[in-house]
Amino acid sequence: MIKRFRFKTSANTIANALLICVSALLVVVGVSFAQKEIGGLVREEASLTAHKWATHLTANNPDIVERLREPHNGAVQRVLKDHGPAGSILSYSIYDSDGRLRIYVGPGDEQVEKSRISRVTLPLMSGNEKLGTLVANVDSGDIHAMFVQGASKIGLILASAIGFIILISIMVRASARSEAQRNLRRLMQVDTVTGLPNQLAFNEILRTVKQQEQANHGATTLLLLNLDRFSGINERLGRANGDTLLRRLAERLRTACSDGVICARLNGDTFCLVSSDDSRVQIEQQVQSVFAQPFDLDGAQIRLSASVGAARSEDGELSAEQLQQQAELALRAAKSNGSQRLVTYDSETVNEFRETDRIAAIVEDACENDRFELHYQPVVDARTRKLVSFEALIRLTSRDGERIGPDRFIPIAEHIGRIEQIGLWTLREACRTVSGLPRHITMAVNLSPLQFASQTLVDQIRNILSETRVSPERLELEVTESIMIGDTAPVLEQLRKLQELGVRIALDDFGTGYSSLGYLWQFNFDKLKIDQAFIRASDEEPKALALLGKIVEVGRTFNMKITAEGIETEEHASRAAYLGCDYSQGYLFGKAIPQTALAAVVITEFAEYIGRQTNGAASVDVDPHEARNKASA
Ligand code: C2E
Ligand code: MG
Ligand code: MG
Repeated sequence: MIKRFRFKTSANTIANALLICVSALLVVVGVSFAQKEIGGLVREEASLTAHKWATHLTANNPDIVERLREPHNGAVQRVLKDHGPAGSILSYSIYDSDGRLRIYVGPGDEQVEKSRISRVTLPLMSGNEKLGTLVANVDSGDIHAMFVQGASKIGLILASAIGFIILISIMVRASARSEAQRNLRRLMQVDTVTGLPNQLAFNEILRTVKQQEQANHGATTLLLLNLDRFSGINERLGRANGDTLLRRLAERLRTACSDGVICARLNGDTFCLVSSDDSRVQIEQQVQSVFAQPFDLDGAQIRLSASVGAARSEDGELSAEQLQQQAELALRAAKSNGSQRLVTYDSETVNEFRETDRIAAIVEDACENDRFELHYQPVVDARTRKLVSFEALIRLTSRDGERIGPDRFIPIAEHIGRIEQIGLWTLREACRTVSGLPRHITMAVNLSPLQFASQTLVDQIRNILSETRVSPERLELEVTESIMIGDTAPVLEQLRKLQELGVRIALDDFGTGYSSLGYLWQFNFDKLKIDQAFIRASDEEPKALALLGKIVEVGRTFNMKITAEGIETEEHASRAAYLGCDYSQGYLFGKAIPQTALAAVVITEFAEYIGRQTNGAASVDVDPHEARNKASA
């Protein structure tokens, strides 16, 4: 629209310029025409003057023509009686029929030169016979000046008339144009569906309200409203009905909002309210009242709800842009927390949301620039304390050196759709690592429930195993009870396929979260990992200890291996072994360590293993327990 408008403006300028050029051309043509005409008139006038004078000359010297018959002896000159040049005749010459100059009467050439001369040639006749020629130099200066003066006056009048016409035409066109521009501007500032001011108008309104705020040391409140699931309503009821609902909503907003509150529609399903009154709570109540009743649509009652983000500026502390940014952030926070929420910029929710945004950016950066790391925590046999496997645990460090735990960033990675990529990277990296470890050591990898969504997980894992030449039995996948929420059939189907492949499946963090024993008969998990909270609670709580024993029993009933997580003390370790857990994992045996530190731990374990195999023939001085702790330090 704006482009077309600009194009029109330049077309108008060109038209005006053309008009002026054509007029200038007309003036030039007119002037040269006038000059030509004046030249003709002057010549005619000069010829008339010369004729009159020749008649007068021949009348007063009747024999002058006859004497031209006489031979050229200079006598002709003498017959002229007092007939020097007179009036506008500056000089004259008489030639005989042979073209010889017989008489010249007049001043020197100098004087002749000064004047504007018209040279007129007339025949001197005797009856029908031409005896000579009279050439008269007529001074046309005055007559020329007179004609020029007259023509100039006419020209001036004409030029003024043309100029006036051009001016009027330009003015008429300019006023028509500015009227069209005003109309266009008005149209561009009104939302065609609701009749409310649109985004363009809102920008101006906000700027004005902010100026008032600054001038009056007042406040500005800005509320952004976004309708919940409005695209669904559009799809269900059609766009026309959607527009009707928007119109009804706009009417309600207009009537509900008190004086001084301006309402605008920014885009599809986003509205905004701006007020220079110090009355945020009041506006919030007005907005709530708008959605309290359903909307009538041809008899059907449609309920609408909105998420609202609010921001406020006092005494010019925020610019219009900053205020808008804060309201937008509050709105995004409100949206991310579900529907029908009102979030103000200074609330805890916005802080959390901003923090989530910050971590999301770090995750994106890590995904794009391969900045994740995988660390490995040892898992040992609960009785012998022999190293049996590692659990791969992902690590993320921001460019500022801040370490962000997986508990914090994995849910965010899930939310921003990066978890599949991260999950695949983890699987590949863990398999590569285990392929370089002794064969009896296995590797556990955590899976997010979202990794089952695209139904490609089984194939991807099969490919990674063959790519890294790791036998499936050496890979264990840890899932939490959260996979049992919603439609479980496709997830269980994929878990079964993975088991058929030879990969083992463990149920992680068992005992917390949704904890239902019902899950255990829905799928044959190979292993149960008891959440570390149980081990910790069993320190002081006899009931927790009893429950721990029961969980181990349940695991046995379902033929599952049991791992106790969070083993931090000797007491924990012996309790896990006593209760019948198969494996133990915890800081007592080592924290998660980077791949570069794995070798030392594994070599020590391996030396001990060889030692045991050779019945003590190989001497081992290093305590594996100590080596693991050294590595995690
Ligand atoms: P998890 O799978 O239950 O992993 C065990 C967590 O407990 C790890 O935390 C580990 O460092 C911690 N831990 C181990 N032993 C002890 C102990 O003795 N005391 C205490 N206090 N903590 C101990 P981390 O690495 O922060 O991981 C937290 C969770 O993040 C993991 O819980 C897992 O659910 C998730 N996670 C980690 N890596 C990945 C990954 O690659 N993919 C996915 N989807 N999730 C991961
Ligand atoms: Mg785990
Ligand atoms: Mg766990």
